[in-house]
Parts: sequence; structure tokens; C-alpha cells
Amino acid sequence: MSTLKAVRGTRDLLPPETALWNRIEATARSVFSRYNFGEIRTPVFEDTALFSRGVGEETDIVSKEMYTWEDRARAQSEKTQTLTLRPENTAGVVRAYIEHGLGESGQLQKLYYIGPQFRRERPQKGRYRQFSQIGAEVIGPTSAGSESPLRDAEVLEMLATLLDELGIAGWTLHLNSVGSAADRARYNQTLREALVPLAPQMCADCQRRAETNPLRVLDCKVPADQPLIDTLPVIADSLDEASKAHFAAVKAALDAAGVPYTLNPRLVRGLDYYTRTTFEFTHGGLGAQNALLGGGRYDGLSEMIGGPKAPGIGFAMGEDRLVLTLLALDQNSAPPQADAYIAPLGESMNAAALALARELRHAGVHVELGDGSFRLKKSFESGNKTARKIVILGEDELESGILTVKDFSSGVQTKVPRAELAGFLQN
Ligand code: ATP
Ligand code: MG
Repeated sequence: MSTLKAVRGTRDLLPPETALWNRIEATARSVFSRYNFGEIRTPVFEDTALFSRGVGEETDIVSKEMYTWEDRARAQSEKTQTLTLRPENTAGVVRAYIEHGLGESGQLQKLYYIGPQFRRERPQKGRYRQFSQIGAEVIGPTSAGSESPLRDAEVLEMLATLLDELGIAGWTLHLNSVGSAADRARYNQTLREALVPLAPQMCADCQRRAETNPLRVLDCKVPADQPLIDTLPVIADSLDEASKAHFAAVKAALDAAGVPYTLNPRLVRGLDYYTRTTFEFTHGGLGAQNALLGGGRYDGLSEMIGGPKAPGIGFAMGEDRLVLTLLALDQNSAPPQADAYIAPLGESMNAAALALARELRHAGVHVELGDGSFRLKKSFESGNKTARKIVILGEDELESGILTVKDFSSGVQTKVPRAELAGFLQN
């Protein structure tokens, strides 16, 4: 029989690496709660229309990367639906915001999520078909201040704090403004005209984008196209006064908080819903897939999927890429070890060893439990691989209540009364 393997583009995460994933998630939760964000968990699959309307038909995600299927009705009362594994989580969060009337409180909603996303991309380092994103959204009615440039600056400052607390040194924040929907429409027209003489010399994707969605040309990664793209008009010149003032206020607040950034006029992001502020954080250690996270403002998204006006700003970070960056920075050296390995001397001691392990674990000691069928030499070998100290449990130790503990690194052997054992093992 052929052996079954994880599907292409998916992978298993194993210890000790999962400890790093948990540390990243714990740090993110701790930072989010200090900024007063609450967690939202939306379903992993949604109605396909949410993404075609919310993310945009012309984006790479919707046009070629989604896992979509016909979900057949199981009963008369149901209808067959077209469903999609979520390729991103912002559309789902905004759908939930609308569905639960979260805007009716009149307060800003500050929501974060951590979870798997699915895109049928060409798998490579830092690019998978199932990957995990950590993201957050600030969304609410205009009266709650959801359009304020202070919200943009606070989200960016929070991201700088989070990356610093994770130990990711050397990140770069790329910042741009794509303006209001009207600014974008004007710029798209300007680009469309500028592309007429250039497109025939560009890659096939750009030739198509020049017609359908000229803004996407700025995303092109084909080296030969870059000199041509550099000659195109920049969006900053198409922004109206209000958009310019908004962007200036975001930059002023970042300057005041001491968050460094690089202006990048080509950063338009791969999703259609962005307006005004857009950003990306990159890291040199990642190679070709160098974007740690991306985000921006999406003032019209709620209306695009049938909701009330609810301006917002958010981001999604690639957790897989955070892990790769931290591994490259060597932040995950020694695998975690238990405090103690309990070695029962003979199978008749197994039950007593479980009772001792329970007692120690309740006291907070990290314990690995051996097996009395092992010879002492094998117990020492196993113990040395998994724990810092070994505790021998034989008839004598059980009766006297005095246990022998050996420290693997110093080689020192100590007799410890059972009542003092938990404290001793944790030192
Ligand atoms: P990229 O330019 O790398 O394709 P993107 O613009 O498609 O990124 P977003 O949709 O903005 O990415 O998603 C935010 C973040 O999620 C990215 O910055 C990246 O860290 C991560 N990410 C996106 N797609 C993948 C993937 N297939 N595998 C792993 N991480 C991903
Ligand atoms: Mg992508």
C-alpha cells in the first residue's frame, strides 16, 4: 500500500518548534490585551460571495488561489451553496461585525484573531497552502472615531511593540496611502492611460492588469518590468486634500511616538478593499517571501458586503514567517527539558511512581515518567535526554521517604526527603 502523506503545501508542526508557536501566540495575546483588543473566532469556511465581493474578483486570491466547492444540500430545507475555505480573515470579521450589529454600541470594536488560512499558491519556503495568520481589526461607526489617523498610528505602534517583544530585530515598516475610493479611481484612470504605450512591453500578467485593474501592475515582481514601472505616475499626486491631511497626521503621530518607517509609493497591497493608509513590515532574514505582515485601512469594506458604513483598519501577520525569522535569528536554541525524570526500579514500582509523579506535577514540577521495565542504564539514558535531574524510586526510597536525586549536568547526587522534593527539583 502506498503511504499517505500530508497534502502538498500543508505540514505538521512538531515539538520543540510548537513551543515557539505557542510563545509567539502568548506574546501576541499579551500585547493585544494591553491595547484593549478582544479575541474573535470566525468559521474557517464562508459563503464564497463574501470573498468575491469583499476581497475582489480581480485579486490573485479570488481569481486563482481559493479552495471552493459546491456544498450539496442534505435536506429539502437546505439549498446547495458555494463555499470557500477562508483565504484571509478580515472579510469574515467584518461579516461578523455586521451580522451581530457590533456597530450599534457606538463604540470602536477592537478585535484580534489567530488561525489557519488557505490559499492554493505554489508552495515554497514561507509560502504554504495552509498557513496561520495573527491579525487585528479596529472598526466602528465614524462617530466612534474609526476614521481618525490616530487609530492608524496606534495600530502601527502596536505592531512595532509586538515585533520588538517577539525579539524580531531589524524589521522595516513600509508605508503608503492609496487614498479614498475616488482618489483610487482617479489614479487607476491615470495609470491606465500611462500604461497604454508601456503594457505591450510588459509581462502577460501586467498586460491583463493594465486593462482590468491597473493598480495591480505596481505589485509586479518580474525584474524586466521594474524599470518601466518606476516611470509610472505615483499615487501621492492623485490624493485629494483630505487624504493628504489624513496621511500627514498618521506620519506625524508615528514621528511623535518614535516609530521609524520608510515611504513606499508602490505599496498598494494585493486586496481590493484598501483605502488610505497601507503598510507592510518586512524582514531581511526571509529571502524572497520577505513580508512579515501587511495591512491597511478599509473604509468601504462593510458597505461592499452589504453592511452599514464602518471604517476600519487592520493587519494580518504570517505566523509561519515569524517562526522562520525567529529560527533564523536563533531565538529557539535548546529544546525545553523537564525538571525531573522519575525512574521506577522494577515494574512493581510503576504504580507508586505514578503517584509520586502526580504529587510533583500538582506542585508545579515538570515531570517525565519512566518505566520500571527499563534497566537502570536505559533509565539514565532516557532521563538525560528529556530532563535535568533523575529521581530513583525503589522499595527503600518508598519506605524511608528519602529519595535519591542526580543532577545530570553537575553529576552531583543528593538525598532528599519526599516533602522537600518538589522544591528541590524546581531549583
Ligand atoms: P505575499 O506578497 O507574500 O504573497 P500577500 O500580500 O499575499 O503576501 P496578505 O494577504 O497581505 O499577503 O497576508 C498577510 C501576511 O500573511 C503576509 O505578509 C504573509 O506574512 C502571510 N502570508 C500570506 N500568504 C501566505 C502563504 N501562502 N504562506 C504563508 N504566509 C502567508
Ligand atoms: Mg500573496
